[in-house]
This record gives sequence, C-alpha cells and structure tokens, in this order.
Amino acid sequence: MLSKMNEYDVKINSKVLRKGDFLLIPGPCAIEADYQAFEIAELIKNNNISFYRGGIYKPRTSPYTFQGIGDKGLDVLRHIRSKYGLIICSEIMDVRQIDKCADSIDIIQVGARNMQNYSLLKELGKIKKAILLKRGFCSTVDEWILSSEYIRSGGNENIIFCERGIRTFENSTRNTLDLSSVIVLKERTSLPVIVDPSHASGNRKYVIALSKAAISVGADGLLIDVYKNPDSALVDGKQSLDFDLFKNMLFEISKMLVLMNKKIV
Ligand code: PEP
Ligand code: MN
Repeated sequence: MLSKMNEYDVKINSKVLRKGDFLLIPGPCAIEADYQAFEIAELIKNNNISFYRGGIYKPRTSPYTFQGIGDKGLDVLRHIRSKYGLIICSEIMDVRQIDKCADSIDIIQVGARNMQNYSLLKELGKIKKAILLKRGFCSTVDEWILSSEYIRSGGNENIIFCERGIRTFENSTRNTLDLSSVIVLKERTSLPVIVDPSHASGNRKYVIALSKAAISVGADGLLIDVYKNPDSALVDGKQSLDFDLFKNMLFEISKMLVLMNKKIV
C-alpha cells in the first residue's frame, strides 16, 4: 500500500499520480488532419511517452483564423488512444462539449481564456475526469486557485495546474513565464503543477531552456507543442518543436529528471 504522502489526490482514468511522476504531454497545438495527428502520435509512442496533446476546439483570439477541426477531431483522438494506447489531453471550451468528449479525451484541458468560465468549471466538478487547468494570462495565483476550487468543491479533485505564462510589459517573448507560481502553488496546494513553455515563450528557440528551468523549480510535467513541419502549421508553429528538436529536448530533460529523482510516466 502506498502512503498518501507519496501520492497526489489525482487520478487520470484509474491511474493514481505519485509524487515524482513527470507528465510529459507533447503534441500538436491543433490537429489539422488525421495523418498529421497520427505521425506525431507515432513519434510520441516510439519515444515511450504515454500522453498526447492535440487541440480540436481552438480558442483563437481572432474569429477569422482556423478554429480547429471541431467534432470531427473526436474520432481522431479516439483512434490515437486505441491504436497507440496514448492518454489524450485536449481542450474543451463549452459545457456542451463535456458529454461529447467522454470517450475521446482522458484529460480535459481548460485553456487560459476559460480559466474563469465558472459555468464550465462547475460542470467539470461533477465528473471524475482529470482536468488540466491552465492559468489565465491576466490571473493571479489566488484567482487560479479559486478557479480550481470551483471544480474541487463540486466533487472532482482530479486537477492538474498548468502555468502558461502571463501578460506583462515584456514583449521579447509572447508571455512571461512565471515560474514562481509553480513554487507558490506547490506550497499552497497538494496538486501537481506542470508548465507550458511553448505558449509561454511563443518561440521554439526558448522551449528547451524554459523546460529545464521548469524542472529546476519542481514542475511535475511539461505541455509541449510539436509538429512535424511547424513552419507550415495553421496554429502556433513558431513556438512548436519539430521532431529533431523534440528528441533533443527529451535527451536534455531526461538527464535532469534522473538527478531530480523524477520519472516520465
Ligand atoms: C493550448 O494549449 O492549445 C492553448 C490554447 O493554450 P492557452 O489556453 O494557454 O493559450
Ligand atoms: Mn496554441
């Protein structure tokens, strides 16, 4: 029997997350086509990683840009889960998508723009699926914790926080990655905290260094945008690693994780 001290109160499907487990969740920011999604799934599977991120409902700042493939993507995600055995993390934006995604998505992502969508958070409190709660880009850590309470007080304790950078006056990166929040959240909650250096920096050049920095402050995982040909991606190509860079990243972080006594699960 594991002692509770070694566990988070978080389950992904039936898997209990243990302290020291490192959640590496790579994949395309947006799924554009099934073959593209499968190529990335193959890369992930071949590198013995268990999680896949893939956006199908995309919260875009402009209504005139690609909004994701939508409902059609649910079949693609289901296929990735069954063919490659990967655990699927994907964003929903609306309470009406909760039932639809029941057998396609294992970790429901609440994006930065929906961190304060309280009707969505309340509904997510009524289910048992793991929820990846991203930080709103203008939200304080206190507000972020209160958002998680909307889910937890409804009865769902399966919450993973994801720091994805905040808006500041600094414009050399897309957002400013607030790594202090990882330390503060780990002090104030007993939930896992992961980091998204892709959306934080907006630039693939910085993703590996920021990943290492996140591990240094004790992050429990990373959400990483990856495409085979990032420069032709419809969404967020500039911040996405190609397959070679992804393998470099894996090599670099693996060395650090050994030293930190953490293991990619
Ligand atoms: C994403 O991860 O695809 C995304 C849209 O991120 P964020 O909500 O952090 O902007
Ligand atoms: Mn994105």
